[in-house]
Amino acid sequence: MSNLKRKISQIKILRKMVESKGNIVNDSDKCIYCGLCQNRCPVNAITVSRNEKKWSIEHEFCVRCTHCVEKCPTKALTLKK
Ligand code: SF4
Ligand code: SF4
Repeated sequence: MSNLKRKISQIKILRKMVESKGNIVNDSDKCIYCGLCQNRCPVNAITVSRNEKKWSIEHEFCVRCTHCVEKCPTKALTLKK
């Protein structure tokens, strides 16, 4: 197996391990659109618009570190399987 193929296999396995932890879910009843989770995310997976009251996440970029969950002041975020 070439080094490139081995690297690609490793990345795919790591991605599956990350995804097996579940997805970050936002309880819109609790979210106050403060943007703290967006600022804390190390991979810029979260986008918050305070004016439009919109919160979104790109799960394919999320590494499930749960820093956003810890930072949220209203406990709106959870990592759910
Ligand atoms: S930190 Fe919590 S309350 Fe603030 S925008 Fe993120 S999910 Fe909403
Ligand atoms: S779990 Fe980590 S990577 Fe995923 S959205 Fe939250 S802070 Fe970003």
